[in-house]
Amino acid sequence: MHMRYDILIAGAGMTGATAARVLAEAGLRVCVAEERDHTGGNCHDGPDEYGVIVHPYGPHIFHTSRQAVIAFLSRFTDWRAYEHRVTALVRNRIIPLPFNLTSLAMCFPVREAQRMEKALIQRHGRDGQAPILELRRSQDACLRDLADFVYEEVFLGYTQKQWGLAPTEIDPQVTARVPVRVNHDDRYFQDSFQHMPDVGFARMFDRMLEHPGITLRLGTPVADVGAAARAVIHTGAIDEYFHHRLGALPYRSLDFDFRHYAQPRHLPSAVLNYPDAAVPWTRITEYRQLTGQEHPHTSVSVEYPRPHEPGRTLPYYPVFTDDAARLYADYRELAEREAPEVIFAGRLGAFRYLNMDDAVLAGMEAARQVLDRLG
Ligand code: UDP
Repeated sequence: MHMRYDILIAGAGMTGATAARVLAEAGLRVCVAEERDHTGGNCHDGPDEYGVIVHPYGPHIFHTSRQAVIAFLSRFTDWRAYEHRVTALVRNRIIPLPFNLTSLAMCFPVREAQRMEKALIQRHGRDGQAPILELRRSQDACLRDLADFVYEEVFLGYTQKQWGLAPTEIDPQVTARVPVRVNHDDRYFQDSFQHMPDVGFARMFDRMLEHPGITLRLGTPVADVGAAARAVIHTGAIDEYFHHRLGALPYRSLDFDFRHYAQPRHLPSAVLNYPDAAVPWTRITEYRQLTGQEHPHTSVSVEYPRPHEPGRTLPYYPVFTDDAARLYADYRELAEREAPEVIFAGRLGAFRYLNMDDAVLAGMEAARQVLDRLG
């Protein structure tokens, strides 16, 4: 006889796992179906063949300013303080990213750098910041020169490789994630809480899903669960859910080339970006710098963006163009008509660029919607 659940959740990533825990604690019987053989979605981590902990789906760095997210996750892990730093190889120099006053001084002759710094402070204030696309529209010729340099040397090649598009062709919020900064702060993120789970992401998710109200079905596509439920949260791709009936939404995929070195350190920072269009990869990540793991040797991943091929590659990033936004809106309409009992949530379900804390909030919000519906 088939088991009956209150709620069926497709996907055990950050959004699905959070929703599952919240709902189970509200007294509901939850089934989580996860296609892969592990929890945590792309935030998964674990030791490679040399015992070095890596992130098989690329670097995930936790940072947030939201108290509710910290409080929730802190129930499943202790934390290790970690401030993420990124450098980029630009014209044979290793410069800090986001592009800041230190980067500026490294890229221009002294006088020009001083003029640009003064103009930046005048226009954006000390400690201010400006998205690159906004900076390119400056009235001030000196700021435009700076913007052109940063656009050409930091954004153009990287974005073309990462998205297959020019920076002007994608939603400006994507490049605005990495603004030019008017100070010497070389931390990649500005959030008040910058810590990594000291048990690792995988263990944190496993603990989140260890609850008597949660049945976890790993290696199980949601269609194979074969159980009824009163509500469904779907964290997989919405276009895939409808068998691409309206056409495929665009995603970028990634290939990772993992390498191991018999030396303690390989990179000047945890992540080194390669904006040069002539280099086929976008960035290299050295995992021990993220995890703080004690190990005499080190492992890195070299990241190659790829077009996504449904059924063959994993969809990593929704590609935000105007066309994609329209197609997604059409899928939402279809969902309201044909699957009103399903809540689409998370990076793939909601077709959004979510940081990890956003995904936790998305899980909490999806759980709240379920509780509202089930009364
Ligand atoms: N970006 C860039 N050059 C860089 C770093 C970032 O052009 O060296 C742009 C690029 O379009 C990228 C976006 O800024 O996709 C957001 O960067 P972020 O590091 O936040 O990307 P994520 O780590 O989420 O892949």
